[in-house]
Amino acid sequence: MGNYTPMIKQYLKIKSENEDAFLFFRLGDFYELFFDDALKAAKELEITLTQRDGGKEEKIPMCGVPYHSAENYISTLINKGYKVAICEQVEDPQASKGVVKREVVQVVTPGTIMEDNMLAEDENNFITSIAQHEGNYIISYTDLSTGECFVSKITSFKDVLSELYNRPVKEVVVSSDFPEEHKQSLQAYLNVTISFQDDCDIPEDFNYLIDQLNESVLSEAFGRLFQYIYHSQKRFLTHLQRVEYVPVEQFMKLDLYSKRNLELMESIRDKSQKGTLLSVLDQTSTAMGARRLKKWLDRPLLSKEAIERRHEQVQTLIDYFFERGELREHLKNVYDLERLAGRVSYGNVNARDLIQLKKSLSAVPHLKDILNQFDSQLITQLLGDIHVYRDMHDLLEKSIHNEPPISITEGDIIKDGYDGKLDEYREASRNGKAWVAQLEATEREKTGIRSLKVGFNKVFGYYIEVTKANLSQVDTERYERKQTLANAERFITPELKEKERLILEAKDKSVALEYELFVQIREQMKQYIPLLQKLAEQISEIDVLVSFANVSEQFNYVKPSLNEEHSLRIHEGRHPVVEQVMQEEFVPNSFEMDDDTSILLITGPNMAGKSTYMRQLGLMAIMAQIGCFVPATYANIPVFDQIFTRIGAADDLVSGQSTFMVEMLEAQHAVSHATENSLILFDEIGRGTSTYDGMALAQSIVEHLHDQVGAKTLFATHYHELTSLDESLVNLENVHVEVDEQEGEVVFLHTIKPGKADKSYGVHVAKLADLPDEIIDRANYLLQTFESTQSIKDEFVKEQQLTLFEEQTEAPPATKEVEVAKELRETNLMNLTPMDAMNKLYELQKKLS
Ligand code: ATP
Repeated sequence: MGNYTPMIKQYLKIKSENEDAFLFFRLGDFYELFFDDALKAAKELEITLTQRDGGKEEKIPMCGVPYHSAENYISTLINKGYKVAICEQVEDPQASKGVVKREVVQVVTPGTIMEDNMLAEDENNFITSIAQHEGNYIISYTDLSTGECFVSKITSFKDVLSELYNRPVKEVVVSSDFPEEHKQSLQAYLNVTISFQDDCDIPEDFNYLIDQLNESVLSEAFGRLFQYIYHSQKRFLTHLQRVEYVPVEQFMKLDLYSKRNLELMESIRDKSQKGTLLSVLDQTSTAMGARRLKKWLDRPLLSKEAIERRHEQVQTLIDYFFERGELREHLKNVYDLERLAGRVSYGNVNARDLIQLKKSLSAVPHLKDILNQFDSQLITQLLGDIHVYRDMHDLLEKSIHNEPPISITEGDIIKDGYDGKLDEYREASRNGKAWVAQLEATEREKTGIRSLKVGFNKVFGYYIEVTKANLSQVDTERYERKQTLANAERFITPELKEKERLILEAKDKSVALEYELFVQIREQMKQYIPLLQKLAEQISEIDVLVSFANVSEQFNYVKPSLNEEHSLRIHEGRHPVVEQVMQEEFVPNSFEMDDDTSILLITGPNMAGKSTYMRQLGLMAIMAQIGCFVPATYANIPVFDQIFTRIGAADDLVSGQSTFMVEMLEAQHAVSHATENSLILFDEIGRGTSTYDGMALAQSIVEHLHDQVGAKTLFATHYHELTSLDESLVNLENVHVEVDEQEGEVVFLHTIKPGKADKSYGVHVAKLADLPDEIIDRANYLLQTFESTQSIKDEFVKEQQLTLFEEQTEAPPATKEVEVAKELRETNLMNLTPMDAMNKLYELQKKLS
């Protein structure tokens, strides 16, 4: 450190303890950044880079942000995935000898933010720890703003990524020896900040948090998180809830690709909520409800009983139209109780927050009354015993002003009558003020100056103002000059001075006491935190169920029934999102798959609606299993354990995989993990390679799914050749999307019909897309040529099917046929004598024998 000044030495020491964060170093009214932090922050925050003397010849790069507006700058850095260590002066600069003592008081990180303006209201902000243990992975995650804590055991790292996708996780905490390739995947797929923590102990006082966990590895996973939070926030948080073990196997499994492809919460195109299932289903009234809906959507249920219970609740809420309306009205008065409880614990709650809390609490009895009007225990039990909420409400009602200021240190928070001492101070201040108010009249009378005024300003305090013209009438014995203005003089009298002292003293005392009382109330509220969290949970559940009921009624959804026979029967099903955004009428379609039918092979032209039909089923299954009704007139479906998708061309650029590779990976994942209770949606498998390659892969995948897996599968393909598979695969059925051709123009009917499609109409679609006539004409010509060789391909497929169960000969016969056909096609008959032609024919026949 050589010649650096003592302050820079102090800076460097603190920075070395916080290397992975921007160090906001408090200097007077500014937070300053130095060295590399300054260079980087100036760029990221677009602020001016300067330099300062640091004791060495070379100046030090420096930039800074004002203390009072620091929050905005911090939030910019956090949103970019950085961390910020806030270093404050921890002693009075006047009292200190040498460099003022400074300490990091908090490290703000993407996963630990508590500030309201940095948090999205309807979204959780999770921080997760991941650890490897005997081939499994343990993840533990918490949302510091709400206090929820969870832990799960997961069998592969890929599943960890799927589990955390959509959560949304902002930061991941791992041990310092966590595998590098995993860290890279986490950053690539989830775009998270990675942090390190090796200590996994939980202080004894907090052991209650893990008392529901029965394995030490689970506790350790949470311990890592706990230690990280403690070290970054520099305080123990009392609102953290008992860690809940989430058995992931008890929920429908959706891999990362399916979550993305089905656009449950985020659109593929612009990552927004527009056009997602969430956007259709979310009619929640509270932020807590919105967050709960996301959780449900991320974890559809598997228990038939639990799903049916939710369906029953939704049905009842639909039936009680008026009561449901009233519930919604009162839910709108409930603020974010979970986050308010978090702020109480964290110590950054203000009086306005407490008023929000009070208003929310006063909605509770109304909600309870309305719920009691339902003749169904499933509904009346949604809110438990509510008398305790009255205690909380009453405390806030008698203590806090209804419209308090944001600041908690400037008074005007506590109501009259709450505290005797405060009332006394206020009385003193009020009496003084009343005396001052009288003073103007008395002094006017005494001096005879009619324009005399009594006023107050922050710098000079109370004064008597006399215009210059009247100065001669002033009683110079009593009046002492205080301030000279252009047209007037300001005076003070000994009595006014005395009253001023009393008023200001009383004011100071009452402000200090108000702060003290506020802190006491805040402390008192801490005991209610678990209750508030419980209430938040109950209210959020009511909110989501009411939202389901509204949506189901508004969009004409039907209550699905669940079967255990593996059959699927949906009448007039619709795509919940497409039907909302379409200008024209959406054409409903049915699904009929009995116990024996495992695969529907869907053919039909481009743009006909194959993908829509497939996604529709995936979304309906999810809707049903989260407890919502489904867009159809009738639905009887099984409970799916997993959904696998391969829909649309999703390049996986982040992991450096080609489109075709992603396609194959997704197929591999489905083929190896699906069970007969799963749903597989495969769109255009094999399309990303040459025709024969693709067709061969598509066929072998269909065969494998048919023979080995038995999952309900929708398989859309452009390989018409595959439609003949229905002859050999007994559990496969062909369906096609109907089109009408009128005078060479294609009309898309979007109707699914039994049987196979007869044409693909690709060139027609290209024409619709306005490709130049020249290209369209040439394509039509080529199409005719290709179609003339179609019979060869048909033979190829048939041959494959016939030999499906036969032993393989040295060379696959189909290859011979293709070779012979090729040779025949390339033979120029005009150059052959009749004898040569005979020989050629003999040679070719021999090749085939
Ligand atoms: P491709 O083979 O080119 O991928 P596709 O057959 O999968 O096409 P989709 O993408 O499902 O076709 O649908 C194309 C468009 O047709 C959709 O964007 C939608 O606007 C419309 N569409 C699909 N299904 C229906 C329907 N049932 N009713 C009305 N319009 C529909």
